Amino acid sequence: MKFIGAHVSASGGLANAATRAAELEATAFALFTKNQRQWRAAPLTPAIIDEFKAACEKHGYGPGQILPHDSFLINLGHPEAEALEKSRKAFIDELTRCQQLGLTLLNFHPGSHLQQISEEACLSRIAESVNIALEQTEGVTAVIENTAGQGSNLGFRFEHLAAIIDQVDDKSRVGVCIDTCHAFAAGYDLRTEEACEETFAEFDRIVGFQYLRGMHLNDAKSAFASRVDRHHSLGEGNIGHTPFRWLMRDSRFDGIPMVLETINPDIWAEEIAWLKAQQTTTATV
Ligand SMILES: [Zn+2]
Ligand SMILES: [Zn+2]
Repeated sequence: MKFIGAHVSASGGLANAATRAAELEATAFALFTKNQRQWRAAPLTPAIIDEFKAACEKHGYGPGQILPHDSFLINLGHPEAEALEKSRKAFIDELTRCQQLGLTLLNFHPGSHLQQISEEACLSRIAESVNIALEQTEGVTAVIENTAGQGSNLGFRFEHLAAIIDQVDDKSRVGVCIDTCHAFAAGYDLRTEEACEETFAEFDRIVGFQYLRGMHLNDAKSAFASRVDRHHSLGEGNIGHTPFRWLMRDSRFDGIPMVLETINPDIWAEEIAWLKAQQTTTATV
């Protein structure tokens, strides 16, 4: 069973995210549980929590179908102590909000070394940040997203994801989310079925499918191996339709939220319907 959806807006209230996902006939969704461009947010009230849970229940979304994303400001590998502390506090707050909402996953970008520390030191810092945060929360898995490797962002090699997991104490609460645009921009080819097989064989060898907790389904405006992060609508970018059809037919991707972060929300319903159709049809477009 595939869970397919989009990263929907939560404006006007978190419960609206579930309603918007349902309008798209999505079976999964992603959301920000607070403004992603601000450090602070008002704490969740029991009324907000109840309303969100009721909306999810009404539309049939269990925690395994929902992939919250944390704030873009957070850098769990920050080279400077004070800024690192600020990021760790914010990350604990993000995990706590998920816990309060009854959610079990939190998707985050690993972090950036800002040219001030080595990749290895930065990856260790990220793992330490995850350890600290997991200790102070319960029931939520920290889901590391692979990146395009723009600037000094780490997480663009599967080896980076593996190095973080390796240093996280509670392996039951760490996982990964693979973003197809980021993988392609980082130099993992997906343009043919053979390339998909190869890329995910490498993923399995280095990280392991047992850690796969989510997927971001995006085509890429950016070129192959460009290390530039620019999403596009499915089939309209440099990746093309092939991997998305291939993913829909591979059972290793069952049971995890697979969400669009494509650039045109007006066609999300269409993209979701197309993805769903690929599970059964033999069409070649
Ligand atoms: Zn992301
Ligand atoms: Zn993504």
